[in-house]
Amino acid sequence: MTDRIFNFSAGPAVLPESVLVRAQEALWSLGDSGIGVLEHSHRGRAFTAVIERAEALCRELAGIPDEYHVLFLQGGASTQFFMVPMNFLGSEQTADYLDTGVWSQKAIAEAERFGEVAIAFTGKPDGYTHVPRAGEVHLSLSLASAPEYVHYTSNNTIYGTQFAAPPEVPAGVPLICDASSDIFSRPLDMSKHQLVYAGAQKNLGPAGLTLVIIDRALVDAGARDLPAMLQYRTHADKGSCYNTPPTFAVYVLSEVLAWIREFGGLEAMAEHNRDKARVIYDFLDQSELFHALAAADSRSHMNVCFRCVKPELEPVFVAQAEARGMSGLAGHRSAGGLRASIYNAFPRAGCEALVAFMKEFEREHA
Ligand SMILES: *Cc1c(COP(=O)(O)O)cnc(C)c1O
Repeated sequence: MTDRIFNFSAGPAVLPESVLVRAQEALWSLGDSGIGVLEHSHRGRAFTAVIERAEALCRELAGIPDEYHVLFLQGGASTQFFMVPMNFLGSEQTADYLDTGVWSQKAIAEAERFGEVAIAFTGKPDGYTHVPRAGEVHLSLSLASAPEYVHYTSNNTIYGTQFAAPPEVPAGVPLICDASSDIFSRPLDMSKHQLVYAGAQKNLGPAGLTLVIIDRALVDAGARDLPAMLQYRTHADKGSCYNTPPTFAVYVLSEVLAWIREFGGLEAMAEHNRDKARVIYDFLDQSELFHALAAADSRSHMNVCFRCVKPELEPVFVAQAEARGMSGLAGHRSAGGLRASIYNAFPRAGCEALVAFMKEFEREHA
């Protein structure tokens, strides 16, 4: 078999090798059923066990209480961008959005189709290099009214910034989070959120699956005059099996979650991710050729975005890294520069290999 290389892709992204091996076996036969995971009915006993295990592991890992539904949907985070306002924002109502980059802006553009959007923070003037600091979030609160909800993006995949903690919102205002690129990379405090969603393809499993964790009361409050597939209550009522869910993706998710549990859970994962990120940031902070883009207090442990002081060397760096078995280091097409995405399953050895190569590159080009 071909040797695997260090995959710094921002998404779809690296998965644990043990999970890939198990998935290969499950393609042939799920357990001893004699039927592959792709071939099982989503209503049968074997797949029911898979989806129940996936939900139970989500709940166990993140300590998700019974007041929340755990849903397995499709359409990616981009579908949540419109499904959230479609369900929870009336045409005369206001929702507050924190603008921390391209993904926030896409969520904002969709919300504007349904109601009023108030921008409670924007990082645009600073090139999205930091997430809001104390006093920088201005909610559309008045004595008479509060926003229907507040929406933020916990990790900004393109700029390499990450909230250290959820923004503060007053009691009674639902907090909604796009956690696509840092879900389950650290403990998740659901008591602060009414809805957390994430496309699976960065930290959880295959593309085609969206994890939605949503407060039961919020589900009940959602609009009722929508197509069934676009109401959260449809999926909540039917255990994510109103129609055929992405069965293989749910299976792989369940294996990834089991791998996280074996790793020691979300606290252990957070420490692992902090440590990996530190390997790269520590080098960048003393480098004369490279520098990190995010402000020190906003640095992501998932996506390390950096630049070369000689930008013309960036494509050379990417190509030479590729030749050494390090793939996916070019920055997002909208931001340029360089980016190392180091999600849960990315090994520390890959961060060390990157730094070793950066040192070598610096000696040659500084
Ligand atoms: C990748 C990403 C998205 C888009 O996700 P899709 O599943 O492709 O729709 C949205 N938000 C964030 C923060 C992302 O990183």
